[in-house]
Amino acid sequence: MKMDELYKQLIIDHYRHPRNYGEINDMSSIRLFYKNPTCGDTIVLYLLVDQGQIHDIKFEGDGCSISMASCSMMTSAVKGRSLEEAENLTRLFSSMITIGISPEDEALEESLSLLGVHSLRARHNCALMGWQALRKVINQYKNDDSPTQQI
Ligand code: ZN
Repeated sequence: MKMDELYKQLIIDHYRHPRNYGEINDMSSIRLFYKNPTCGDTIVLYLLVDQGQIHDIKFEGDGCSISMASCSMMTSAVKGRSLEEAENLTRLFSSMITIGISPEDEALEESLSLLGVHSLRARHNCALMGWQALRKVINQYKNDDSPTQQI
């Protein structure tokens, strides 16, 4: 199908040219290391949050094309959003991958191209890892307004 081909191209493009790649050097930024046990993909996620809003988000990582493309798309989708909105997107994305239903909400933006991963059970964690890391950070903010550098 044409759409599938388009999605594939988008995933390859994000893998080769990841968006928001690098680290955030700011005293008030937080940093989280996350590992996908299934595939061995690893990422370090950096967030700069102020007044409940994601001012900046970056990542560095090493992993398969799905995991890296998914992280790249995730950072693009949540940058500039509130933690609440980002949490909702995390939920939408998780159900898209695990249930296989494309959300009507377009807010996931390019992450929607990962819908096909639903049929590849062994790769679910690859697509989800960036979002799981993000959720961990969000939970930290919910439990404590001023998380420490080390989570
Ligand atoms: Zn992987």
